[in-house]
Amino acid sequence: MRILLLLVLATVVCRADEIWLGESMARLGFSNNPPVREGQEERFERNNPRAVVVAERDKDSITINGIRVDMERAVRAKAFKVKGQPDVIRLTIERCDYEKILVPLLWGAPAGSRKPLRIVIDPGHGGKDSGAVNVALNLQEKNLTLDVAKRLAILLRQSGHEVLLTRSTDTAVELSERSKFANQVKADLFLSLHFNAGPTNKARGIETYWLTPGGQHSTKDSGNAGATAQLPGNAFDALNINLAYEIQRALITSLGSTDRGTRRARWVVLKDLKCPGVLIESAFLSDITEARIYTQDAARQRLAQTIASGVAAYEAKLRR
Ligand SMILES: [Zn+2]
Repeated sequence: MRILLLLVLATVVCRADEIWLGESMARLGFSNNPPVREGQEERFERNNPRAVVVAERDKDSITINGIRVDMERAVRAKAFKVKGQPDVIRLTIERCDYEKILVPLLWGAPAGSRKPLRIVIDPGHGGKDSGAVNVALNLQEKNLTLDVAKRLAILLRQSGHEVLLTRSTDTAVELSERSKFANQVKADLFLSLHFNAGPTNKARGIETYWLTPGGQHSTKDSGNAGATAQLPGNAFDALNINLAYEIQRALITSLGSTDRGTRRARWVVLKDLKCPGVLIESAFLSDITEARIYTQDAARQRLAQTIASGVAAYEAKLRR
């Protein structure tokens, strides 16, 4: 029994297997430009006509076209032996980050969804669960998510998609029921909408989450949660990262807010999905400046438009 368990774990956990970024990027068609001085790699930059990739020593994220993508492990500096010369220091990443992040984002993800898409929008919270609250502005997360969901539904329908909501009124819906609903209606895409709150009033910015790949760690979690094996939603890892990245990129580019990263977490609403899905934390209601923005209809409309443009970018990428 124990041997069987070990075998299962061995197939899902991220192997401690570092690879040199320079070589892996060359494999993805990125040129060595601008040149990096041998033996001096602290900051790594490569580009091709479609993307600029930047990695920095000891950072647990990379940026692709300026958008932050959180990884399983930090970028590390490793000494490589060169015969008759001093060691060369090169930056490395884990092979699982290459396979789960760089390859799907830079090389492409599997296409093949029906068009138009059937999209389920999930307005976070509802009913007695108000979510984050800004008392001074009388703002409740559950109302904002529902308002933006309805605006987003109109926009996505205008683009020809079929759209369903996990709730269209101020009612409580269990977390597990939300993904179950998406699975029952055979959704092609799932978008969970949320607004954030921090322990202090200082946190600001946007986070878009994809389901943490099997055997890996979620953002800011270095504990043993990385032992979690494949979940049903992990069947869509390559699509999940593309969807999360394109939505985060659209939001950061057009709203000009702080980029808190394309993050990884095992949210209940994402775990059991039978389609690609993401969870979006659009702004911090605990921050008076960000919260005040979303008291305005125009800002909520712009947020919905931006999420819709992220979905369009994702679709366009898969068609390529
Ligand atoms: Zn929430």
